[in-house]
Amino acid sequence: MINLKKMLEQAIKNNSAIGSFNVYNLESIQAVVEAAQALGKPAIIAFGESYTKHAPLEVIAAIVKKYCTDSEIPYVLHLDHSKNFETIIRAIRAGFTSVMYDGSSLPLDKNIEKTRYVVQIAHMADVSVEGELGYMNNEDGTASLSLSLAKGHTKPEDARKYAEASGIDALAIAIGNAHGIYKGVPELDFERLAEISSVVDVPLVLHGSSGIPIPSLQKAITLGIRKVNINTEISTQAIKTARQFLHENTQENLRFETLLKSSENTMNRAIKEYLSILN
Ligand SMILES: [Zn+2]
Repeated sequence: MINLKKMLEQAIKNNSAIGSFNVYNLESIQAVVEAAQALGKPAIIAFGESYTKHAPLEVIAAIVKKYCTDSEIPYVLHLDHSKNFETIIRAIRAGFTSVMYDGSSLPLDKNIEKTRYVVQIAHMADVSVEGELGYMNNEDGTASLSLSLAKGHTKPEDARKYAEASGIDALAIAIGNAHGIYKGVPELDFERLAEISSVVDVPLVLHGSSGIPIPSLQKAITLGIRKVNINTEISTQAIKTARQFLHENTQENLRFETLLKSSENTMNRAIKEYLSILN
């Protein structure tokens, strides 16, 4: 496994982006690893702080390490959307190679101060840090988007200041993207993206990439997006498969692992599709 900075250096060189896929359990981890191996492409395995309610991050790290250490395919194990210093320290100790500190709801100065603190600690352990600037809805997609999203779009000058002062390795921006399922077709503000790209020195990250039309994603990559986060699309497809599976298999003695495997296969196919589009 390598850290995010190193992984994205390769993406910068190729003018491409690396797919970041959220995992929550054994099946989702296997789906990502198998897809990356099959296509011979690097992948970022992301575990959100909010998932620690479901599984301890130490256990997730142990499984990922088992699969990804000594692999020829480069992997990053990334802590997604953490607001908590304690979770970040736990992740670093458990072997995560990248952490995201999400101070996007804070005023700029406070965000810089807290992010810089995380950067100082993480870099001592050779762990990369992703920061976020600009308003997005909650990562589980539940919060409404009624708040004017355009007002929360990342300002290029703030982005430059934040990236420089905090020392982050990657920056998540808001340019019309959102978490969860989009109502209608999302329109990215490419002009803003180009402007941010031209003033910010670190690679840019696009959250909420599920549901963004593929040509838009590709255009965003040509304009400097180097990490593309995909969660909702994979998760909704896995649930759709599970529903279908239960509908078709009504016998009493149905085995739980066969249900899990059917969803895993679907996640695996969806991840492969994204991987082949991205780089
Ligand atoms: Zn996100």
